[in-house]
Amino acid sequence: MHIIQIAAELAPIAKVGGLGDVVSGLSRQLQKNGHHVEIIIPKYDVTHLQQVEQLQELKTAFPLTYDGHTHQVRVWKGQLLGVTVFFLDSEHPHSFFKRGCIYSCLDDMDRFLYFSLAALEFIHTRTELPDIIHAHDWQTGIIAPLYINQYRLHSPKRAALVHTLHNLEHQGVCDPGFLHKVGLDPEHYMCPDRLQDPLNASQINLLKGSIVYSDAITTVSPTYAEEVKSQASGRALESILIQHTSRFSGILNGLDCDYWNPKADPYLPAHFGLERGQMAHGQFSLRNKRLVKQRLQTTVGLEQVENKPLVAVISRLVPQKGIHLIRRGLYRTLELDGQFILLGSSPIPQVQAEFEALKEEFSQNPSVHIEMVQSESLAHLIFGGSDIFLVPSLFEPCGLTQLIAMRYGSIPVVRSTGGLSDTVFDVDYADCPVEERNGYCFEHTDDQALDSALDRAMNCWKSHPEIWWQLVRNAMSIDHSWKTSAKAYEDIYKGICHQQTPQEV
Ligand code: ADP
Repeated sequence: MHIIQIAAELAPIAKVGGLGDVVSGLSRQLQKNGHHVEIIIPKYDVTHLQQVEQLQELKTAFPLTYDGHTHQVRVWKGQLLGVTVFFLDSEHPHSFFKRGCIYSCLDDMDRFLYFSLAALEFIHTRTELPDIIHAHDWQTGIIAPLYINQYRLHSPKRAALVHTLHNLEHQGVCDPGFLHKVGLDPEHYMCPDRLQDPLNASQINLLKGSIVYSDAITTVSPTYAEEVKSQASGRALESILIQHTSRFSGILNGLDCDYWNPKADPYLPAHFGLERGQMAHGQFSLRNKRLVKQRLQTTVGLEQVENKPLVAVISRLVPQKGIHLIRRGLYRTLELDGQFILLGSSPIPQVQAEFEALKEEFSQNPSVHIEMVQSESLAHLIFGGSDIFLVPSLFEPCGLTQLIAMRYGSIPVVRSTGGLSDTVFDVDYADCPVEERNGYCFEHTDDQALDSALDRAMNCWKSHPEIWWQLVRNAMSIDHSWKTSAKAYEDIYKGICHQQTPQEV
């Protein structure tokens, strides 16, 4: 199959959160499985293009009319970890992708509508049309309605449309006038069965549009797929998801295990794996995890001790991630004589300021380090060097950090919600065989709930090292690769590929 992924993020070159990891990991696995995969993303000025191989500008720039004005779109092509990526570069006077950031601009709606329109237009400048167009999240929510209205009927080959909902918190709600800008008639779409926002009847909702018009809709874990069909978690889209439930499913995210590989991770000073062995970079064994912890401690200025468990958080600092519980995790870790490291950043100025203040408060404490930046290299070192990994999310569509942590032998302590429930099974209470238990879970969102799980983890680390290392082995031996999940996506693609029943226009 010829599959085109269209997204706002791509790891590791243009990544804010898990969306970027999913697009690159899924694409690589699909390509390994023999499919012809291509990815389209914006050419941001912050993209790490030095990691892209064979990058070249194509001769086929094309004109794009957006909001009544026509400007050229330039196209760049390169290879990222073996997959072809097209970068769309706008000559629009608003310089949509030259903002020094990926999100958080006041005109994000324009930026991503423009990108979505450009991506579809680019696909149709080419002779080889895809079987599948797979779009992701609200930024590309207009793709399905737009494709069906403007492209599918006139195209010599009709692509099937898949849309993945990575997080229902962001839905792309905006004035219907935006539809004019991409050439759609707002009146046609302003009804409850189409794009009208369920909460504000004078607005349209791009994510809802993707649900109504795609041939298949997925989200990133089975539990989240169930949760969002309820009023408590559906963020007003529960009814539309229930209405389209036969086309909606939850597929657990995988990990790109070549990229997240403690046996060969170029960011680690020493490599480790379950067995002893030899890789291109040298010897690895589980004992080396201690060397990584030492390097982490010296790199960030934590006290160089072996007898304290190191608890880590790597997270976007937004309410979803349980900010008060992250703070509680820090205090509780210190009460229990552990070390704590946080790598995060927040798009919310008050939250950023709050954690900057916390960083200042603990600046002289050798058991705490807070780093308020995006740092891929430090993230790898923390996954490799930490003992316990805290993910206290209030809701979590899938969550990747707990999967990466497990692969790097850091035991997750998580709140049981969404994909965290699907991937972390409590050592003491889970209803599954002992060898499948891999972490510590809690239910409620108060401090005591977090303490109950964190205390058990720290106690086990300190008092029962043999049990702890067995737990590390359990966690590291779980296969979280994309193999199973990519197969589930393939089945969906196959199921809709030849169903040539276009949605109503
Ligand atoms: P979300 O997509 O909601 O942010 P996920 O757990 O699905 O959460 O994915 C988060 C990804 O972003 C992980 O790969 C994590 O390592 C990475 N990440 C989060 N914050 C940072 C940071 N400050 N620096 C580097 N990587 C980060």
